[in-house]
Amino acid sequence: MKKAVNIISKPQTNELRKRLLKMEVKDFTCFSSPLVLSFAQNKTYHIRTYGCQANMRDEEIMAGLLENVGFKKTDDILTANLIILNTCCVRENAENKVIGEIGSLKNYRLNNEDVLLAVCGCMVQQEHMIDLIVKKYRHVDLIFGTHNLDNLIELIDISLRDNSRVVDVKSRPIEIIEKLPSLRNLKHKAFVNISYGCDKFCTYCIVPYTRGQERSRPKEEILSECQELINNGYQEITLLGQNVNSYGKDLKNNATFSMLLEEVAKLKIPRLRFLTSHPFDFSSDIIEVMKTYPNIMKYVHLPVQSGSDEILKLMGRKYTSKQYLQIIKDLRKNLPGVHISTDLIVGFPGEGEEQFLETLEVVKEAAYESAFTFIYSSRVGTPAAKLIDNVSREVKGERFQRLVDTLEVSIKKAADQMVGKTYPVLVDGISKKKKEILSGYTETNKLVHFPGDESLIGQIVYVEILKSHLHSLRGKIVDGVNK
Ligand code: SF4
Repeated sequence: MKKAVNIISKPQTNELRKRLLKMEVKDFTCFSSPLVLSFAQNKTYHIRTYGCQANMRDEEIMAGLLENVGFKKTDDILTANLIILNTCCVRENAENKVIGEIGSLKNYRLNNEDVLLAVCGCMVQQEHMIDLIVKKYRHVDLIFGTHNLDNLIELIDISLRDNSRVVDVKSRPIEIIEKLPSLRNLKHKAFVNISYGCDKFCTYCIVPYTRGQERSRPKEEILSECQELINNGYQEITLLGQNVNSYGKDLKNNATFSMLLEEVAKLKIPRLRFLTSHPFDFSSDIIEVMKTYPNIMKYVHLPVQSGSDEILKLMGRKYTSKQYLQIIKDLRKNLPGVHISTDLIVGFPGEGEEQFLETLEVVKEAAYESAFTFIYSSRVGTPAAKLIDNVSREVKGERFQRLVDTLEVSIKKAADQMVGKTYPVLVDGISKKKKEILSGYTETNKLVHFPGDESLIGQIVYVEILKSHLHSLRGKIVDGVNK
């Protein structure tokens, strides 16, 4: 198979940091093409998503676009006519997984003329990754980035019309597209983007380059999307952004995250969550709103990354460990029973034993109920990649284990304290291992498994906790549905 490569656009490294003063907001315009409509007839698609919730939401939008022109979803990647790998590049192993997957699809793609293979998302926002895929993985038909998802059908049309391999990855966003179609993965809980991109530029993070400028969606669009979900019976909404707490800063109309949170809470969705918070922008008015509205779940994910002020400075996090712990204190004082989770990186360049011990101290004081821990991996193009990675692999591994051991003390204590008590749980689905076991989440985001009928999926039930494990609980339904 020898197809010409049609490069419509490629990201330019010096453009990735640039920010526009004003972002236009436009409604989605549907592109239709007889060629795509006939290709999609009786054809299936499969989207494999890596990484974070932003990518999961992008998957739902791509699914909406594809279903609009007639594609049908399949869970079996090796029968799909259109395969999309929706990628992540936050850590090196996420990229390695995608590259492995592209390689393993080679035979399937080459043996099936009516199959298209696409790679999109954060990984291909990096020029070196595009070059690698174009040169080494010639069975990839389509490469597109995070800023032109809405053009998906047009790009398929170009690839089919010219029988070419198409690359269209913009350096940065120039507008916010509203009223995009979407096929949501779940019928009872949903993510709603409130902002895209990030302007924090933490020195280790690639997101401000791959997802571009922070841009807040207009409040009216967010409220109308939430209202529509409520009208359709959704039980839970998670307001989504790389840094939700800075919502509105770019709108120049005095909008703040706490004001938006309050307005969404007033719509009376049974469960309201938000993700991800940044300690620098986490102001006390957010806690006030959380206190006032019982439908805002008492769970906060507040990444600390390190407990050492020296390392926090090198990371460009813009807060000190003292300021961070003050937020934790305020949360615990004002929201009894709140659960707090965090992200932590071990082995950042310059982290010595002293700095690591400071992290352990913060972990002990914060007494997290859950945590995500990572070993530092350098990302090409970030400022931290220029620092000397002076922590050996062995030391990183050993610190990682000590960190996990320290975290487990408070995580276990919190889980044990839940035993014997009853909590409302939103039923998510059937357990992966046993079909008569359901799983769902408490208001504080604890995973619970319990026997029950699948007709309860999407409902809030009361579950008495019988046993605790570190990352999940076991229980039994005690008092019917929707108490
Ligand atoms: S806040 Fe920092 S870690 Fe989070 S996405 Fe933005 S740059 Fe990355």
